[in-house]
Amino acid sequence: MFEFSSIEQYHADLKEEKQTCLQAVEYYLSQIHSKRHLNAFIEVYAQEALQRASELDIQRKAAGPTGKLHGVVVGLKDVICYKDHPLSASSNILKGFVSVYSSTAVNKLLSEGAIIIGNLNCDEFAMGSTNENSAYGRVLNALDETKVPGGSSGGSAVAVQAGLCMVSLGSDTGGSVRQPADFCGIIGLKPTYGRVSRYGLIAYASSFDQIGIFGKSVSDIAKTLEVIAGPDQYDSTVSSKTVDDYADFTSSDRKYRVAYFNEAFDHPSLDPEIGVCMKDQIKKLQSEGHIVEPVEFDLLDYIVPAYYVLTTAEASSNLSRFDGVKYGFRTRQKVADLGSVGFGKEVKRRIMLGTFVLSAGYYDAYFTRAQKVRNLLIKKVNLILGNFDFIILPTAPSTAYKSGEMTHDPIAMYLADIYTFMANLIGIPAISVPIFQHKINGMPFGLQVLSAQFNELPLLRFSNQLMQRN
Ligand code: GLN
Repeated sequence: MFEFSSIEQYHADLKEEKQTCLQAVEYYLSQIHSKRHLNAFIEVYAQEALQRASELDIQRKAAGPTGKLHGVVVGLKDVICYKDHPLSASSNILKGFVSVYSSTAVNKLLSEGAIIIGNLNCDEFAMGSTNENSAYGRVLNALDETKVPGGSSGGSAVAVQAGLCMVSLGSDTGGSVRQPADFCGIIGLKPTYGRVSRYGLIAYASSFDQIGIFGKSVSDIAKTLEVIAGPDQYDSTVSSKTVDDYADFTSSDRKYRVAYFNEAFDHPSLDPEIGVCMKDQIKKLQSEGHIVEPVEFDLLDYIVPAYYVLTTAEASSNLSRFDGVKYGFRTRQKVADLGSVGFGKEVKRRIMLGTFVLSAGYYDAYFTRAQKVRNLLIKKVNLILGNFDFIILPTAPSTAYKSGEMTHDPIAMYLADIYTFMANLIGIPAISVPIFQHKINGMPFGLQVLSAQFNELPLLRFSNQLMQRN
């Protein structure tokens, strides 16, 4: 029987011929089949995954392991292009579309020996926090199927949570990797804006979007990041900075300087139990020798409005390509409004909101002001990160809630992303580390840790310390 604990252990087992890649793929295919009601996968590439696994097994026997992610079974959020494979952003408007090229992240995964097993359900065009806005229906949280897995990368989170693949990729524009990781009890990393190429990632809000990684261990996240990060001639926003040796994350028991905001820990929207755990965590970190200090932060309430003005503005421009000519849904019938046939409610709402905030009469009142808030935030947070290694925050104000509970109230859902938007507005890396369990409802939740741009290595080191002691 195949068992997975980490990529490192899997590689050791392959070397000692205790396992094969083929056994791994067969195992995951059977898991995907038996847990298909979770609705995490949209398509499973069974035959080609089996084929690739056999080829890798032959190659390895002949020449040794052939890549950093040799035989690692990966799932992709349905917004990441993989040549000759379906891609729809979980939207009716793209149903039946097949990618004509692969994203840089996918090419990098493949060149290091990964096996891509399928594409994963998400909120339509990555807009949402529950994975309930999908043309393929909702995804179930495997820990409690009546609850949401979080979103928008809900399928990617559940695929790792329920053991349907080893690691998965998602996208994080405002928390879509960290928040579902938090709701599912796994690790979710959003790298620095510009650390991972966006080439071949369907754009939602281009100055926010970043591909992120789900995994069960820091080492799996580090290994995957090392492969997908780095310069790319197809994305000019990717940094040319050399990629750190992320695998070196274990080498440190260093003591860090950590900042926290009382405004965040005492926020009225925060579940009191989460607040208590956050405050206990401060004491625990201090007792372990870290310096943990409060910093005044009065910008918290501006974050959600600024995010929604800026991301919807960018989305209204990005999504204008789905006009039924270049991409997507076509019909011979006369339709007054093409969007109403192909796009779901939430996507339409955001396109309209974005068009409104960019319109001549309102541009300065909304868009320009939101840009100013973004600048203020960048200055303030970078100043803090000049004095501290990390900022800690909750990932979300509550644990996973019941499906349907928030769908009637988009504003409440928007406000619940108060803790995750900051990292995207600023472009810094952030991770959700699953170290808590709610005393009343039993659901897991994470500690969110943010660091300065391109400081993924210390972020992983600190996350590893947190994971080790729990
Ligand atoms: N929940 C947020 C939103 O709906 C974040 C989405 C994301 O990161 N893709 O916009």
